[in-house]
Amino acid sequence: MAGTKVSSLRNSNASRRVALRNRRTSTCVAAGTGKFFVGGNWKCNGSHVAVEKLVKDLNAGSVTANVDIVCAPPFVYLPQVLGALEAPYQVGAQNCWVGKGGAFTGEVAAEMLVDLGINWVILGHSERRALCGEDNEFVAEKVAYALEQGLSVIVCIGETLEQRENGTMMTILNDQLKAIAAKVSDWDRVVIAYEPVWAIGTGVVATPEQAQEVHAEVRKWLADNVSSNVSSKTRILYGGSVNGKNCQELAGKDDIDGFLVGGASLKGEEFVTICNSASEKGSVGV
Ligand code: PEP
Repeated sequence: MAGTKVSSLRNSNASRRVALRNRRTSTCVAAGTGKFFVGGNWKCNGSHVAVEKLVKDLNAGSVTANVDIVCAPPFVYLPQVLGALEAPYQVGAQNCWVGKGGAFTGEVAAEMLVDLGINWVILGHSERRALCGEDNEFVAEKVAYALEQGLSVIVCIGETLEQRENGTMMTILNDQLKAIAAKVSDWDRVVIAYEPVWAIGTGVVATPEQAQEVHAEVRKWLADNVSSNVSSKTRILYGGSVNGKNCQELAGKDDIDGFLVGGASLKGEEFVTICNSASEKGSVGV
């Protein structure tokens, strides 16, 4: 009964967003219809003790919204977190190798994550693109291989400040998307994180309008180049200095289907607040 109520509330909110969109633009692209999603990217932070405390704080928090949540600790803490973090949280990894394991010193294969019971992996984060030289094709190959092994993927795209200012932002984003689309046929287990590089870890969050504008473009790109079904179903997350204060306004935007959170995902209470911003979409109750 409660489930029926929640789903009709979600459907009516989705229809409202579609109607708003169609009024505002001439293109007939629907707003997202996927369940709100929040990822926590713990990056290369923590210690056994710090992870224990964070997990305790997360478990103690009350997630009241209808939201998918994936926390991604560093590889070495995956077993610890898997054994202690409770539902509704799921556990993901921050990276995996591009193919089958073997003589690749320091790497972790997708098969190993699956073996551990991990369902999600973040790929193509801008830090890996910039610091580890991962280009569009390499990221796309990783996405395809991880999907083949049964993982679900949060794949990151984003522009630098220079690219935004020199007018090449959409070309950059489209190239990133094009490389992924060339290798992916089943989008059901793909979530896209739009993370402007200039907003990551800087405290400079994109305005809700800036984020909405790009999210709408990404959704339109999916409609034009993949399918309208994939366009409306694929969750498009915003990432870059999201915190407990700015999440609600961002979550209220039509095409923002969730967040990928770095710094604030290391603070249990604040991360729970961000997860609960899903209720901005009318998704209350699990
Ligand atoms: C990230 O690294 O994915 C991220 C969004 O970081 P932050 O929230 O700290 O900007």
